[in-house]
Amino acid sequence: ILEARQHETVLEVNLDAVVHNFNNFRAQVRPATGIVAMVKASGYGAGSYELAKTLQSQGAAYLAVAVLDEGVDLRKAGITMPIMVLNPRVVNYKSLFNYRLEPEIYSFDILNEIICEGRRYSITDYPVHIKLDTGMHRLGFLESDMTELVRVLKSQNVIKPRSVFSHLAAADCPELDDYTRGQFEYFARCCEQLQGAFDYHILRHILNSTGITRFPEYQYDMVRLGICLYGIPTLTDGSQGDLKPVSSMHTAIISIKEWEAGTTIGYSCKGVLHRKSRIATIPIGYADGLDRHLGNGRMSVWINGHRCPTVGNICMDICMIDVTDASCAVGDQVEIFGNNISVMEIADVLGTIPYEVLTSVSSRVKRVYY
Ligand code: PLP
Repeated sequence: ILEARQHETVLEVNLDAVVHNFNNFRAQVRPATGIVAMVKASGYGAGSYELAKTLQSQGAAYLAVAVLDEGVDLRKAGITMPIMVLNPRVVNYKSLFNYRLEPEIYSFDILNEIICEGRRYSITDYPVHIKLDTGMHRLGFLESDMTELVRVLKSQNVIKPRSVFSHLAAADCPELDDYTRGQFEYFARCCEQLQGAFDYHILRHILNSTGITRFPEYQYDMVRLGICLYGIPTLTDGSQGDLKPVSSMHTAIISIKEWEAGTTIGYSCKGVLHRKSRIATIPIGYADGLDRHLGNGRMSVWINGHRCPTVGNICMDICMIDVTDASCAVGDQVEIFGNNISVMEIADVLGTIPYEVLTSVSSRVKRVYY
């Protein structure tokens, strides 16, 4: 870790924090409720294999990835626990079946396709996850589809629903709680219809991170834990417990120069110095995922206990920082986000959500696990 930290820009991933956050939620849900750990988008940017290995050993019920290749990579790396694939479109069914990856079924097209493909490979009772559209209005079966859905499912033995699930549109918007409650009611009605047609228990799940805390009465059989697993709270009242940030981004100063007042820094001469200043250069730019809108003082980084603002435009591979008020030297550590600069703070500046900041850290940034 230290070697990497001295020379390059890294995303440090604290696996103890993953365990801590997982157990924090383990304690919030009933013992019988399984936790689906969301490791899609390469573990919200942190790297899915290391996360998956940790979560497998912690007893997560399922992992969820977005696309088939993410699941295949986990299997090839040795992850054996159940994995659901949320968006199996343009899928290689041979890989899906061979690697025992369990797809989300969200339309009659996909349903018919998998039954057809399953027959080609003589598959029987393959576990799938039925997605209901209870209010997101993107993917999933509607209540009006249930009779036909049951008919198709009962007419074949290629696939066997393992779970039925849906996603909340506004779990974090108290002003829309009536809407959310409407989703729960819709979900319950659809589940009842589906379950009524089968003589074994089909697992149900609808809660995401925020939902787990705000609507614990709808835990059903499983909950899907995403952003909070990575230590980012979605509620400001502390009700989600003690969460530890999992990912922190660090780099090191590669140059420091002193400039007179009036000097300009960087592209388009945008950074104008109003006093004699010490300007440090750090090896991180927008190609690493540091959004260009964070330049010109719109964010600060953390150096030796000081918040130091960006100066001028962020470049592709580097950016400049005003370190006039910090005592620092070439080689000193710089925190982009982590314990002192929060992902939330950066998201706020960018007018986005922490999910986007975390998943924007580009693949050339080395992930370091500890
Ligand atoms: N379930 C589904 C279907 C999702 O798409 C996501 C995240 O995008 C989650 C659960 C996890 O949500 P969160 O990260 O807010 O916990």
